[in-house]
Amino acid sequence: MIYKHDRRKFLGTLTLVGAGVTLAGSSFSYIPEGNKKPALLGGPRAHPDPFPSWPVSGKREEEGMAEVLQSKKWGRLNGNAVGNFENKYKEWTGAKHCVAVSSGTSALFTSLGVLDIGPGDEVIIPVYTFVATYNVVVLNYALPKFVDTDLETFQIDTDKIGQAITQNTKLIMPVHIGGSPADMDSVMDVAEKRKIPVLEDACQAHLAEWKGKKVGTIGLAGAFSFQSSKNLNSGEGGAIITNDDMFANNAYNFHNQSRGNDGENSSYRSTRGTNLRLTEFQGRLLTEQMSRLQEQANRRTLNAQYLTGLLKDIPGIYPAKLYPGVTQSAYHLYMFRFDKNAFAEMPKSRFLEALSAEGVPCSGGYGRMNKENYVQDLAKNRHYLNLYGKSTMQEWLENSICPQNDLLCEQAVWFGQSMLLGTKNDMEQIAEAILKIRAHAGDLAKS
Ligand SMILES: *Cc1c(COP(=O)(O)O)cnc(C)c1O
Repeated sequence: MIYKHDRRKFLGTLTLVGAGVTLAGSSFSYIPEGNKKPALLGGPRAHPDPFPSWPVSGKREEEGMAEVLQSKKWGRLNGNAVGNFENKYKEWTGAKHCVAVSSGTSALFTSLGVLDIGPGDEVIIPVYTFVATYNVVVLNYALPKFVDTDLETFQIDTDKIGQAITQNTKLIMPVHIGGSPADMDSVMDVAEKRKIPVLEDACQAHLAEWKGKKVGTIGLAGAFSFQSSKNLNSGEGGAIITNDDMFANNAYNFHNQSRGNDGENSSYRSTRGTNLRLTEFQGRLLTEQMSRLQEQANRRTLNAQYLTGLLKDIPGIYPAKLYPGVTQSAYHLYMFRFDKNAFAEMPKSRFLEALSAEGVPCSGGYGRMNKENYVQDLAKNRHYLNLYGKSTMQEWLENSICPQNDLLCEQAVWFGQSMLLGTKNDMEQIAEAILKIRAHAGDLAKS
């Protein structure tokens, strides 16, 4: 079968014409073997070898862990490893302060604690995000207000933030989803006009930049996650960065049972607090992992840009775009939209199945959070009914509509960050897999 496409020639073999390949992909030409069947129909897999495994560790990590073990100083109140990591992380991000905590969720929860978000308050969040962004709002008995998604970028649609603000809005929490920065100029613009603080959920966005500034340093504070799937990881862990002295102090106190950082005799400093401390093992592991972070980030960027060049002209495949203000994405996820109209009406689930069979692991991404039962049930929660009243909760339910996001969830496809640690050849094989599936879309959709 000869598959025709405006920018590419499909002739006889499945090799890439190297000389024709550029980063932008504009002069890219493919010559795939027409008789190669998709793996699901009995053909060979486009990507036969495994992608790089995650996490990456070696001697540095082994020695670091043994040192902490032998030191007998295992908690941050005993040793210096967490403090050393905080110093290094704030240096790398250019933030004035860093407080390490037990998870990304803890980083968000601590920040909401510092801002004294509580019952009766409203917090603005994007609907297209990991559930933790929502959970921390509800943990504080505040009302989460969903904002719809910008289809092209997968990020919060900043044009819709203004209309979600009421006199009860106490916080705007943009998320840099997939590790790509949200439109922070627009977020800060609306926030400053209405005098509402901004907390950046940067849990997926280590080392990402907006106009040359690291994310997490643009709003009042930024929250990061070091959970095992994230680009920087210690199994579990998190951090808050901020340039605000008071915020940093209060964040430390909140995560340390309301006590300051001046040792055993610290007095209680704030009304609310808990224990969300990181261990020395995690602090040291993060420091060692940071020695690998920049090189990994560079590799992800090169591969993601190369892959975008390979995919962007395939009909029905729309890689997530970056805003012009993005000077660096963390590429925690490689995200694109799949339009079944260009694939013989094959459902996305079938496309994911076919792609996986080619040896290309993929996921359909987040579900429609505003439509999930556990979210809708908030309108029946007795505390929420007491606090906000039945009509407010009913209104909340009815106003939680995000049509662009509904469409995005139907179309979204993700690749994980560790796939981007592979080679250019891996990226080419991903593109080949998709082209092969498209060339046989009719047969795949039927079978
Ligand atoms: C991972 C993540 C979190 C939570 O981080 P944990 O360390 O898993 O608690 C919060 N928000 C977003 C967007 C995330 O991806």
